[in-house]
Amino acid sequence: MTASPLCDNPLLDLSGLPRFDAIVPSDVQPAIGKLLDDCRALIVRLTTEGATTTWDSFAAALSDGLEPLSRAWGVVGHLHAVNDVPEWREAYNRMLPEVSRFYAELGQNLKLFAAYQAIAGSAEYARLSPTRQRIIDNEIRDFRLAGAELRDDQKPRFQAIAEELSQLSAKFSENLLDATNAFAELVSDEAELAGLPDDARQAAAEAAEKDGHDGWKFTLHMPSYLPVMQYADSRRLRAVMYRAYATRAAEFGAAEFDNTPLIGQILRLRREEAQMLGYASFAEVSLVPKMADSVPQVLAFLRDMAIKARPFAERDIADLRAFARSELQLQDIEPWDVGYVSEKLLQERYAFSEQEVKQYFTEDKVLSGLFEVVETLFGVCLKRDNAPVWHEDVRFFRIETPAGELLGQFYLDLYARETKRGGAWMDEAITRRRRSSAAAATDPIQKPVAYLNCNFSRPIGNTNGQARPATFTHDEVITLFHETGHGLHHLLTRVDELAVAGIHGVEWDAVELPSQFMENYCWEWSVVQGMSSHVDTGHALPRALFDKMLAARNFQSGMQTLRQIEFSLFDLLLHSDFDPAGERSVLDLLGDVRREVAVLVPPEWHRFPNSFAHIFAGGYGAGYYSYKWAEVLSADCYGAFEEAGDPFDQNTGQRFLSSILSVGGSRPAIENFRAFRGRDPQVDALLRHSGMVSV
Ligand SMILES: [Zn+2]
Repeated sequence: MTASPLCDNPLLDLSGLPRFDAIVPSDVQPAIGKLLDDCRALIVRLTTEGATTTWDSFAAALSDGLEPLSRAWGVVGHLHAVNDVPEWREAYNRMLPEVSRFYAELGQNLKLFAAYQAIAGSAEYARLSPTRQRIIDNEIRDFRLAGAELRDDQKPRFQAIAEELSQLSAKFSENLLDATNAFAELVSDEAELAGLPDDARQAAAEAAEKDGHDGWKFTLHMPSYLPVMQYADSRRLRAVMYRAYATRAAEFGAAEFDNTPLIGQILRLRREEAQMLGYASFAEVSLVPKMADSVPQVLAFLRDMAIKARPFAERDIADLRAFARSELQLQDIEPWDVGYVSEKLLQERYAFSEQEVKQYFTEDKVLSGLFEVVETLFGVCLKRDNAPVWHEDVRFFRIETPAGELLGQFYLDLYARETKRGGAWMDEAITRRRRSSAAAATDPIQKPVAYLNCNFSRPIGNTNGQARPATFTHDEVITLFHETGHGLHHLLTRVDELAVAGIHGVEWDAVELPSQFMENYCWEWSVVQGMSSHVDTGHALPRALFDKMLAARNFQSGMQTLRQIEFSLFDLLLHSDFDPAGERSVLDLLGDVRREVAVLVPPEWHRFPNSFAHIFAGGYGAGYYSYKWAEVLSADCYGAFEEAGDPFDQNTGQRFLSSILSVGGSRPAIENFRAFRGRDPQVDALLRHSGMVSV
């Protein structure tokens, strides 16, 4: 007789760290199925007639009851991301629709909404801590934005809009991908490849051969497109590629891939949805759960920054024109020359080799340098620890107070593997909260645990069979610091309520603050010196090389800033002022924005909106400004250390920890910021860090 799949199912063991040494794909369906049943039963119990609606009996009970599912499903999702072998993919995909459906229903359950409203309207609400009040308010806000307060006769239309919007977004991405794939430029004359690096030529030759052609095939996918725009001496080739890229999914290509009608439909539906919810525009809806207060505030922020960046962008473009004339005999710069001329200018001014820099960032030295930064800055201790892991590459650490009190733990999975999702990311395994059950007797606080994942290259064996340590590019070091910043936000939280502990409940436009803040340390000479050691000689990175890296960091920052502002402003105006049923077109609006802020105006046939997937197919609709917004916040926070005269100033570090890092989503991000900085955010520090200061 075989045991029930629920007996000793390690996915259901949530008493401590995930049991990666025991969990197998066949555990998933029985465990997740049971947890879904438990959650549904709990919701029925909490919402039956006569159930009490107090913090303890409802809000806390619901939060506690839903946690096992999110933790266990989190483990499954994590394994799917880091060990994407067929068995795990199948186990994950088999339960994904059910889990998604459960969470969708949760967000639409009006009985839950009524229970939160009952708490908000009760005498108990005034006695709740501000943190608990915020949790109740957030829940009510999210239900409202999902249409919970609409009249019954409005709900079918609201639901239909939501479904249509998700289909239109999916179609927008598909069209873009299909249009991208539909184009190829086959080059038969080798002379046209002049300037291209060998690997780009090789890839192009292989692509042509795969199609049964001689010559070289170039496509609009980044690894093929970018080298052409940066390096190809052939102006004709660059112009052809540029035009194809700029007109993807537009009226010039196959009609079935044209995104123009979708853009109009998406804008009209978003506007209708916003008006049903009682807002003037979709931008207003988008800002409700964000840190930014209002559309005029964000517009003013973007325009102020555009004015400040403008002189530097003009200087960038003047430098580029002068260089093109004197060194490349190009009298006018066309849009398809910009990347090419910029690359040549960068090489001439700041030439250094990424490969040379990489020899200095050896793994052990980088990790000990990173740990030292964290320890010094926040007064904590990081130590190696033991735990079951999903792969032999993975290491495990603990963060303690100097007195030895455990604060949190994290897994570090640095190397790329074929079965691992690309990129770098932080994820939560366990979130901090005060335990309410019997378990609280032994330890009242559940300690947070994080996953830090990167895709760096692993150490390689040398000829003696001895492993040579892994070395990282400076960009990879920055990535590691960035993800560690997200990790610290999760691990150093002091919040006791799961819903707003760590990164939970933090506004979308503020969540990158700690991660971008940590990146600054990769540009501090004392840190770089201390965390570099040449893989062969053991020498620290030379100062002269570091100076070149610093100079290249801000290359064309004025132009790049204005480009980001152009996209942000266009996105925000499109979703606020613009009437999709009116006289003026989306392109008319884009033209206005460009006349206001751009220093480089693309050709009239450019169809940028048709490939702006961030706002039409991603989550960035009326939120593209978040990139710049969060950069301002993180730079301004780092500015406090600069003003203190020491990037490791103890007092400032403790204040950053207590006002921002440890507070999580328990307080509005603007209040956290003000508590730390004593004022509202200012753009000056970001401009200074980007080299945009008048001298
Ligand atoms: Zn990030």
